[in-house]
Amino acid sequence: MPGRHAAGPSSELTRLSAAELAEALRAGRVTSVEVTQAHLDRIAAVDGAVHAFLHVSAQDALATARDVDARRAAGEELHPLAGVPVAVKDVVVTKGMPTTAGSRILEGWVPPYDATLVERLRAARMPILGKTNMDEFAMGSSTEHSAYGTTHNPWDLERIPGGSGGGSAAAVAAFEAPLAIGTDTGGSIRQPGAVTGTVGVKPTYGGVSRYGLVALASSLDQAGPVTRTVLDSALLHEVIGGHDPRDSTSLTDALPDLVGAARRGATGDLTGVRVGIVDELNGEGYSDGVRARFDESVALLREAGAEVVHVSCPHFGYALAAYYLILPSEASSNLAKFDGMRFGLRVEPEDGPVTAERVMAATRGAGFGDEVKRRIILGTYALSAGYYDAYYGSAQKVRTLIQQDFAAAFEQADVLVSPTAPTTAFRLGEKLDDPLAMYLNDIATIPANLAGVPGMSVPNGLSDDGLPVGFQILAPARADDRLYRVGAALEALLESGWGHPLLAEAPELPTTVTVPTTEESIR
Ligand code: GLN
Repeated sequence: MPGRHAAGPSSELTRLSAAELAEALRAGRVTSVEVTQAHLDRIAAVDGAVHAFLHVSAQDALATARDVDARRAAGEELHPLAGVPVAVKDVVVTKGMPTTAGSRILEGWVPPYDATLVERLRAARMPILGKTNMDEFAMGSSTEHSAYGTTHNPWDLERIPGGSGGGSAAAVAAFEAPLAIGTDTGGSIRQPGAVTGTVGVKPTYGGVSRYGLVALASSLDQAGPVTRTVLDSALLHEVIGGHDPRDSTSLTDALPDLVGAARRGATGDLTGVRVGIVDELNGEGYSDGVRARFDESVALLREAGAEVVHVSCPHFGYALAAYYLILPSEASSNLAKFDGMRFGLRVEPEDGPVTAERVMAATRGAGFGDEVKRRIILGTYALSAGYYDAYYGSAQKVRTLIQQDFAAAFEQADVLVSPTAPTTAFRLGEKLDDPLAMYLNDIATIPANLAGVPGMSVPNGLSDDGLPVGFQILAPARADDRLYRVGAALEALLESGWGHPLLAEAPELPTTVTVPTTEESIR
């Protein structure tokens, strides 16, 4: 929100939104070096406790910042976000910067190229602070499946930050980065957003290039923004989105006006907008605190002029089961390239002949974690000749039914809404040994991925346990602007009630300067 903070001493710089930082930079009140250094200092102070980062690229970020400052001083016309730093999930390849996807099997791999979205961040001259922690190959809802240690939720360090993109969400919630990139295959941007009190957006499938993402499930994966305000997500989405000829599933249409939609929404007027409550995503299994915040938010949307209706999506009950056949099937194929020959780790068998097959087996045995092995086995089984129709084929039919449910629901409503996650952040370790309990976290987020429609999670208050809750907004494919209009309206209405952004209530973090701020990896 403009005017919320004045750009003052460096510690305060980390409290500003990206839009506020952009304005302070444009007006010459602050330099990009100061902004970038303030975030590197914050990382050094708190990341020992949070562990949001796997790699901090201080030299690279400061070099970009110096370049931006020099260009600005010379009067060059720059991108509005030039000089505003960003953190990138470690599943996105970055030239010259380690990329592990949270896995041992990619330890030590330094990509020779940038993902398209990284090229776009660099073209906008945004300093890249580093790479953020994640569940191995983006499989999980807690970041506990990272091979490099878990990330801690800044609201309560004993709790999960969500997953798989817990590192990006925690970095933004802990004021270590004003902006971050996440990826969402079944909820990995939105669910971490919900449990850390941050905004997260999964764009329409094909809206942001997948070129240079380490693929999990290619028909579901989408990269998107992780921020503290809805306007900041719109600004970042406009940097990374749009057609890319290197991704064959990239949409060719121009992005809708996302920033304009966010600004329009911030007026708090939703007259004429039809909001549909998805009855299947709001009952049993959702905690009382989550449901209470949801009901209050819906009442606010109604007061803002929205017409609220109930819609039924009868096949959503099968979404989780279909997802956990389609995802492992695609993952088992995508992960076949990690064979000990081409990337990262190579392990030779301890005894016996060193054949290609035995090196592959030894490398995968040592390099993949339990959850990854579980899904490869499941996916290979589901795709095998005798079972293909029964499992993968049936799951694809369910996917069509879910797409039809969405189509029918969007006849009755412009956006659909639900809680983002069934509960607030659970304790570290609580669900680690129970894969099914872990999978249930994504019950409300998965349908959007199966149908390719865009979704946003907006923080909508604290539950009775004092932890953040998220409100999910879904729109038809290509209508991402609707998310921004409704999300910004809800944010403005909530903040005018609270008198501050939700993260202003987050507890102080222990500060211990233990983290390197040079080009070092933190593991
Ligand atoms: N938690 C889900 C899973 O484990 C979602 C992952 C994702 O979106 N990358 O598959």
